[in-house]
Amino acid sequence: MRCWPWLAALAAAAGLSAPASAASFDYRLQARKVADGVYALIGKIENFSRENGGNIVNTGFIIGVDGVIVIDTGPSKAYGEQQRAAIAQLTAKPIVQVLLTHSHPDHVLGNQAYPGVPVASLPATAVTLTQSGDALLGNLYRLVGDAMRDTEVRLPNAVAADGALSVAGRKLRLIAARGHSDGDLMVFDEASHTLFAGDLVFFERAPTTPNADLPQWLETLDALDGFEFAVLVPGHGPVLHDHAGIAQTRDYLRWLRDSLQGAARRGLDMPEVLQLPMPERFRTLAVLKTEYERSVTHLYPAYELDTLPTIPRSKPK
Ligand SMILES: [Zn+2]
Repeated sequence: MRCWPWLAALAAAAGLSAPASAASFDYRLQARKVADGVYALIGKIENFSRENGGNIVNTGFIIGVDGVIVIDTGPSKAYGEQQRAAIAQLTAKPIVQVLLTHSHPDHVLGNQAYPGVPVASLPATAVTLTQSGDALLGNLYRLVGDAMRDTEVRLPNAVAADGALSVAGRKLRLIAARGHSDGDLMVFDEASHTLFAGDLVFFERAPTTPNADLPQWLETLDALDGFEFAVLVPGHGPVLHDHAGIAQTRDYLRWLRDSLQGAARRGLDMPEVLQLPMPERFRTLAVLKTEYERSVTHLYPAYELDTLPTIPRSKPK
């Protein structure tokens, strides 16, 4: 981009800064210690925008005995690089493992910052990124702009499986689930009892549902009810020390399911469903209106279809 020095000087004099470019986009990542050796990078509870550079997501890392495990790499190459720099400020140990919670672009497009490191996901995540990664990337370029520059899709190069994983001298339990997407990986650190729940848990922000299976998601949340942890890092929203995020996500998804089901039975059309009142208790959730509209748009047609009578097909004569 051509730069006009006099314009920059004028902007500086007026206390305005020039628009961020890819080279200078600063995510201002601050690693927050959530348990012994466990850190989270907490994103904003907003929609994607040029101002936040796509940093609407929580990522994390665990410093083990002889290496570091990264959980999700963020929305862009620049984010991944700055995540790596934030880790380097705390430890000189090498990054030995990246784990991806699921395929959504805000969680995986920083993979480029980790060449030569095993990047593992559930098989379904790799399949989705192979099929739709470029489309997801293009969408984020449109929504976020400059901060995305030079970002490319890097597929996982290793497979994560449900069960115990010992890495960098740290005992982890990987939990394979479904519901928010078709492959949701949770990471539990046995030493600190920290659960990285990915997008199965949102807190203080309306859940996103573009690839959701609501019954499966609700089943997973029910199973999480009995899960003991000291710290829960949700995919979006503040870090928790109790089950409030699980309860809030479930409450919202149940309401969404029941509301869409009820509307379909009453024969409402989509514009009418979009106008339905939101329960008071959800009004404080960030990005509520946008996420509700998105959810209605992609989930409601299936509920409408469910209410149509099935007519038995006559046998061919
Ligand atoms: Zn997601």
